[in-house]
Amino acid sequence: MCGIVGYVGKKNAVPILLDGLKQLEYRGYDSAGIAIIDNNQIDIIKEKGKIVNLENIIDKDLYSNIGIGHTRWATHGVPSNTNAHPHNVGKITLVHNGIIENYDELKKELTKKGYVFKSGTDTEVAAAVIDDVYNKEKDMIKVLNKITHILKGSYAFNIINDDYKDIIFGIRKDSPLIVGIGENENVLASDIPAIVHITNKYVVLDNYDVVYLTKDNVKYYNRAGKEIKK
Ligand code: GLU
Repeated sequence: MCGIVGYVGKKNAVPILLDGLKQLEYRGYDSAGIAIIDNNQIDIIKEKGKIVNLENIIDKDLYSNIGIGHTRWATHGVPSNTNAHPHNVGKITLVHNGIIENYDELKKELTKKGYVFKSGTDTEVAAAVIDDVYNKEKDMIKVLNKITHILKGSYAFNIINDDYKDIIFGIRKDSPLIVGIGENENVLASDIPAIVHITNKYVVLDNYDVVYLTKDNVKYYNRAGKEIKK
């Protein structure tokens, strides 16, 4: 289990994500990646090895007000560019810390439904589960509540959906996730060091909490889909 950081706000997410990931380097990792919105398209950049390798292949002019980043410690699938996060399936792009224990049976079911997998990760299977449920359900809060009954194991996710390009969605179970509350900017990360360069106000999410972040709003929901205060 390694590091996650997501940013939505008025500044350029690219250096903020890279700085946040560097603060999580102490946890160890084998690859790193980010996803941002560039010209209304999701752009995923990921690279095996150190964060500096990733930094070296990122266009210096890359700019986005929203993004998610990850350092990976491989549990399913070798350390490689393909297995590095973020993963994209259909409308869903996400990063994940944790282990999806029932990924193998889910992969078989989703393959029968027509999903094709590019990586050897459990994470890509989780992305396909979310995409599949989203295609029927359409309401991301309900989708994320539903997947807690499908996925077994541990997870902290930062998710961007192609239909809501100004929102980061998050959910966790047995893998940490905290929300950093800023001024016209918000952060969703696996650990405090990844947010202190943005804010010193934070909220620790409980298991199954669903969170929704825009640049000026954060909303929390419980497993029943009811909005809650934190
Ligand atoms: N199980 C996932 C993978 O192997 C996530 C690992 C992590 O937490 O970094 O890609």
